[in-house]
Amino acid sequence: MQETPQNPYVIAARALAPSFAERASRWDENREYCWPNLADLVKSRLMGMSIPVSYGGQGASFHDVVLVVEEIAKACTLSARIVVEANMGGISAVMAYGSEEQKTFCAPIVLSGDKPAICITEPDAGSAANDMTTTARKSGSTYILNGTKHWITGGGVSRLHLIFARVLDEDGSDLGIGGFILHHDPERGVVAPGFEVVRHERTMGLCGMPEAELRFTDVVIDETMALKPPSGFGRGFADLMTAYNSQRVGAGTIAMGVAAGALEHAIRYMKEREQFGRPIAEFQGLQWKLTEMDAKVHASRLLLHEASRTLGPTGFPDMTFAARAKMFASEAAIEVVSDALQMFGARGYGADEPLERMYRDVRMFTIGGGTAQILKTQVAGKLLGIRTPQTRDGYSR
Ligand code: FAD
Repeated sequence: MQETPQNPYVIAARALAPSFAERASRWDENREYCWPNLADLVKSRLMGMSIPVSYGGQGASFHDVVLVVEEIAKACTLSARIVVEANMGGISAVMAYGSEEQKTFCAPIVLSGDKPAICITEPDAGSAANDMTTTARKSGSTYILNGTKHWITGGGVSRLHLIFARVLDEDGSDLGIGGFILHHDPERGVVAPGFEVVRHERTMGLCGMPEAELRFTDVVIDETMALKPPSGFGRGFADLMTAYNSQRVGAGTIAMGVAAGALEHAIRYMKEREQFGRPIAEFQGLQWKLTEMDAKVHASRLLLHEASRTLGPTGFPDMTFAARAKMFASEAAIEVVSDALQMFGARGYGADEPLERMYRDVRMFTIGGGTAQILKTQVAGKLLGIRTPQTRDGYSR
């Protein structure tokens, strides 16, 4: 069992959890973005909690974010994804590598309730992300962006976008990969010409979260909005993916949180449901299964906590710790949620209980943010001391 921490962020997250749990089926059934939850997250100051105090945030650590994400994920997977992307990934890359102008521009947008979109994946560049063909060509004091990204979380609702693109000099020479900040907010009159949401995916789970294909046709980005990684564009992908390690820890934590929530439901139901004249909690086969589920959640939590605290020189989680934790937690969570659903019998398969939704939701986490296979390849590369060129750690083509 997890101890009750006195962490103020956790207290805030726990206060939101009951209403988030109550509304969770609504977003799933209607495929609706959870705007009211977003407003609650803003009020509780959990949006952008990792942004430094000097930019209006709370200066919370990645470990604090992880603690919050678990609490929220037990109640509502969508909201947990929002908390991750509003504190890790794209915004954390901007706060670590960005110019003063970029930081003062992006922080208030996130703090006021935007979940930024991070745009890496392309139709022909998934796991092999550094084969991306989206280009940002230098033209005077601007970059001209062309290309297509797909499976972009928040596409169509996010205002801030961090777009990974191959940087071309004015003469067309390839300088490496950089990040480009694009602001698109038609509701408030900010339109980026040439930026288009082409379509939305129809997903198995996480149904209220838009997953979009985005097209960029001669989108003009001022050079001040080019996020130049610390070692320059040449090793830019490696730096940007280093920042992305935080999001991986966040994604693993969502999976673990969903599993922890499923475990709580299973414990409740085992005591409640009677068969053969006694609570099913008395059947040893189920007790052993429950213990295995608990051990998987606990082991995942320990790996994720370790990864959230084991930071490299740039202040982001170490790549190997992050890969190991996300890989283990995402695979374990699928097993735990499936086992919890089984404990409910037919009831688990129906929509009166949240298990079927949690099962569909949790299935994603061995895919998005680096598949379990790619993460295993990364860890194996580290163990064996060999370069593994197909991984997303920045080795060039
Ligand atoms: P592929 O790369 O085509 O892989 C297919 C299969 O082959 C997988 O099982 C993979 O593990 C395996 N495979 C590939 N290469 C190897 C190898 N070398 N060794 C062993 N196995 C291998 N992307 C973004 O940029 N931004 C987002 O916000 C975002 N959100 C997402 C949200 C969801 C719900 C999902 C499902 C995806 C999202 N993605 C996002 C995309 C995600 O990062 C990619 O789906 C992922 O990197 C895998 O790429 P792919 O789907 O093209 O699979």
